[in-house]
Parts: sequence; structure tokens; C-alpha cells
Amino acid sequence: MKVILLRFGELFLKGKNRKLFEKKLIENIKTKLSDEEFVFHATSGRYIISGYKPETEEGIVQKLQTVFGLHSLCLANGVDAQEEIIRQEVIKVELKNKSFKVEVKRADKTFPIRSMDYAAKLGGLLLDLNPQASVNLYHPDVTIYVDIRENKKAYIYYNFVRCQGGLPLGTAGKALLLLSGGIDSPVAGYLMSKRGLELEALHFHSYPYTSELAKEKVIALGNKISQYCGKIKLHVISFTRVQEEIHMHCAEEYMITIMRRIMMRIAERLCEKNGLGAIVTGESLGQVASQTMQSMTVTGGVVKKTPVFRPCIAMDKEEIMEIANKIDTYETSILPYEDCCTVFLPKYPVIKPTIEKAEREEARLDIDELVDFALSTEEIIEIG
Ligand code: ATP
Ligand code: MG
Repeated sequence: MKVILLRFGELFLKGKNRKLFEKKLIENIKTKLSDEEFVFHATSGRYIISGYKPETEEGIVQKLQTVFGLHSLCLANGVDAQEEIIRQEVIKVELKNKSFKVEVKRADKTFPIRSMDYAAKLGGLLLDLNPQASVNLYHPDVTIYVDIRENKKAYIYYNFVRCQGGLPLGTAGKALLLLSGGIDSPVAGYLMSKRGLELEALHFHSYPYTSELAKEKVIALGNKISQYCGKIKLHVISFTRVQEEIHMHCAEEYMITIMRRIMMRIAERLCEKNGLGAIVTGESLGQVASQTMQSMTVTGGVVKKTPVFRPCIAMDKEEIMEIANKIDTYETSILPYEDCCTVFLPKYPVIKPTIEKAEREEARLDIDELVDFALSTEEIIEIG
């Protein structure tokens, strides 16, 4: 019988919380596989998925590979724990010229041969059948596990598939992702969800300066990351009036600084209203003028009670792009629709803004009224 053995990662470190983490992880696995036919067992610190049709295995594996908190999985064959049957199974492994070792675990002590002796015996058998292969007990290319369980079943496996790692979604609370149409913010959302955060998202558009397609693109990006991050409530807010007012009244070099300060104020208001515990952005140090240390001090400075998480802060663009490719957002992110940040873009944005100057520029605006007005344009789209 084919089965999938699941291994979880850091969950082991969670002490008393472990039960809670496990419960959430199991719930997330079952939700993810809700369209599949399968049986789930949790036995002595191990999860086993069985009872699925062989042709659905690939799809199930792909889905499990998007579940945070799973470290890896292996495709195993479950057989009756009898020497001859196990032998038949083990000799199927094709080793060619690889190095290998056999590792036997014997939870069922009534099994007649001791683990070490049995591993040596099976290893010898494999060597006879694969004369090009060699034994390497320390750094083998392939490790063949024979796991003899108390229920008189033996699981034989050697195929490990890496999963996401991280912590189960929903064990760290909920945060607000500032989601633009760019490359960085979907990656930022994915990375924070990997640490267990559920997400809502906030997108600013500048219709009619930005097109309806730009919004569609953000929804498409939300859909892509929801494969990993779960359902996302997307708040879409019009930034047009804010931008027009800034454009009319404030110094051009401070436009982006002030725009971003207003974005952050709106984000914090949404967090308060919706019980969200943090703001997540895709900022990366030094990437553009608005992402210098001084710029982030001035823009982050308006956020009073909410932490701002910037998981891409230390990453090169190339590293961010690598993750974007892995989670399949890259091709969508590079579609050429205008983002609201590119509308009215000043030629020479300030690189080292100060809070004093930003406040002087903002004194020409009715900030509270602009924030309230922007919030009144909110449209909510459920994604995933
Ligand atoms: P990205 O690739 O994520 O768009 P970027 O390198 O283009 O980032 P900026 O445009 O300066 O950088 O934006 C920095 C961060 O501010 C973004 O990562 C995102 O979190 C947020 N942001 C920018 N524009 C918007 C928008 N229109 N709606 C919501 N959030 C935005
Ligand atoms: Mg952008």
C-alpha cells in the first residue's frame, strides 16, 4: 500500500505550545486536501496519509508542498512486517553506482532480527544486486529506511521531498500586507505567512490614472500567494485624491515620502479596525530612494502602535526574484501596468528626508480628512 509520511520541522521546538501547533497543522493539512480522498493517521509523532488512489498521489504531494510547518515528506510503501515481504520491497530500489546505507528502526520488538543486524543483511543483499553501488554509512547518496511499526506494518522509503518548512499558518496571528503589483510585496507576504501569520491585504489604486487591469493584476497576485497563505481579504482603496492633493500642495521631492506616510496611516487604521497585529511591506534597504534608512524612519514614524515587518529588508533583488519565481508570482508581477506609486512620480525624490520637513509639507494638507476620505472608498475582495 502506498502511503505518504509527513515530517514536521520546527514544531518540535515549541514546548508546551506544541499541541496547539500540531492541532493547527493537522487542520491545515486536512483543509488543503479537502477535495481529495485519503485517510489521515497521526501515530507516535508521525503523520501518515494513505487510502488515496495512486493517480492522485502527485497532486496530493503538490498540495502538501504548500503547507507551512511541514518540513518534508516521503513516499513510502507500507507492507506487512514479514522478512520475505520486506525483502521483496527493498530489492526494488535501483541504486546504480550510488552510495547508500540501510537504516532499520524496530518499534515492534517482537520482530525477530535486531535493527543493526537486519540493516547489514539488507545492505548485503542490495550490494549483491547492485555491484556498482557502494556502502557509505556517513554520507550516503541514498538512505533506505525500513521502519517496522508496532502495528506489524513496515514502511520502506528513500524518496524525500522537501516541503516549505516554517510554522503552521494561523499560529502567529493576522497581519496586513501592503500589496502592490510589484515583485517584492507578494514575496514579503509569503515569507511572513511562512512564520505562521495569516494575511489580509491592502492595495492602493489611482483610478483613472491607473487602469482596471492594474487591480486585476493585484487580485491575480493575491490568488497566487493564497496557495500558501490561505484565504486573503483584500482591501482596495483609492489613492487618487491623496495623490492629487499632495501633487498640488507639497514640494515635489517630498511627494513619495508623504504618499508613503499617508499609506502607513491608512494601513494602521485598517489594522485597528480589523484586529490585525502588524503591517507587512516588501521594502528592501537601499533599493530605491523611498527605502533608505532615513526614508523608512520618516514613513514608519507615523505608525504608532503597530509593528512593521519588512522581511525583504536584507535581500538583494535577485534573491527576492528567486523566491518570486518559486512561488510563481514573478511573471504576473512584471506585467507592465502602472502602479499608483509611478503616477506623478517626481524626477528627484529626496533620499534623506527629515521628519521636520515632512511635517512642514503635510501642514499644507488636511491629513485626517484625506485619510478618512480614502478609507471611505474601501472595496473588499475575498481571495482564495
Ligand atoms: P514592490 O515590488 O512590492 O512593488 P517596490 O520595490 O516597487 O516594491 P515601492 O513601490 O517603493 O517598492 O513600495 C514599497 C512597498 O510599499 C511595497 O513593497 C508594498 O509593500 C508597499 N506598496 C507600494 N505601492 C503600493 C500600493 N499601490 N498598494 C499597496 N502597497 C503598496
Ligand atoms: Mg512598487
